[in-house]
Amino acid sequence: MKIALVGIGKIALDQHVPALAASPDWELAATVSRHGRVNGIEAFTDIHAMLEARPDIPVVSLCLPPVPRFEAAQAVLRAGRHLMLEKPPGATLAEVHILSDLAQAQGVTIFATWHSRMAMAVAAARDWLAGRTIQGGRITWREDVRKWHPGQDWIFEAGGMGVFDPGINALSILTEILPEPLRLLSADLDFPANRQAPIAARLQFSQQIAADFDFRQEGPQTWDMEFQTDGGVLALRMGGNRLEIDGRHVQGADDIMGEYPALYARMAGLIAAGKRETDLAPMVLVADAFTLGRRNTVADFHF
Ligand code: NAP
Repeated sequence: MKIALVGIGKIALDQHVPALAASPDWELAATVSRHGRVNGIEAFTDIHAMLEARPDIPVVSLCLPPVPRFEAAQAVLRAGRHLMLEKPPGATLAEVHILSDLAQAQGVTIFATWHSRMAMAVAAARDWLAGRTIQGGRITWREDVRKWHPGQDWIFEAGGMGVFDPGINALSILTEILPEPLRLLSADLDFPANRQAPIAARLQFSQQIAADFDFRQEGPQTWDMEFQTDGGVLALRMGGNRLEIDGRHVQGADDIMGEYPALYARMAGLIAAGKRETDLAPMVLVADAFTLGRRNTVADFHF
């Protein structure tokens, strides 16, 4: 299937373009971006112009930041094309509901992706936890924003989500693997005095699960979760790619390269089956953290 990529920036070039190039299902047929380009691929700077000029492209994948995404997404669906969305699927919950309803009315596929759910050990962790009782858990998601989001000021603007941009990846795994639904009990959010989104967050959930998200981690980066259960201790490390049970490595590796190929394979499958997938559970928890969270002001942040 021919596909167009919109928003040719860091994640499009790091992950989407290589995943499409390696897949037998897809042909990258056009890009839409004001500055970004992919060598040898027809480039547009306006989504409406691309949709009009290329009726032969039935699928569009949006890699824009969340705030400017809705209008492009709506244009894609109104043009009767299938739509794939980077995480988080929108700036607000309501806009994703609107898109989901529009996709249904148009009879096309919408796929709100959560790439971390495709990490190598997530399905095995879900299967191991099924039927066990969670006695407590700790999520540690600490990374260096300067390394992973160099100069991306949008991430600290209203709607950019700040540290929840990576933190929502942890929540996407958590909401996938836990046998019981999760509820936020309290949150502490650290906002730099010169920014509109938090740089760190500490969250307390039901089931005695606590999370520590921080964007100021230099040196080794940590994307880990550990759960105590009535049947032993499960740890997922490297963003869900490595599984340990009672301290023993049982599955996966320190490698994240399989996530995007798996997302595009799933998109191909959803289209073939005429299905839609927009699970908002991770984003609901983020919205709840902003609703319930206590706000602390911390030092200015500059890239
Ligand atoms: P990015 O490089 O800053 O943005 C992608 C592209 O979107 C930009 O190159 C820009 O292209 C366009 N864009 C940026 N701001 C815009 C605006 N206000 N209006 C219109 N277009 C705008 O961001 P990214 O890191 O690729 O992240 C994009 C999405 O992918 C986010 O939702 C993020 O959560 C997700 N993601 C990122 C990573 C990562 O490691 N960075 C990992 C997984 C998922 P033009 O200027 O050429 O139009």
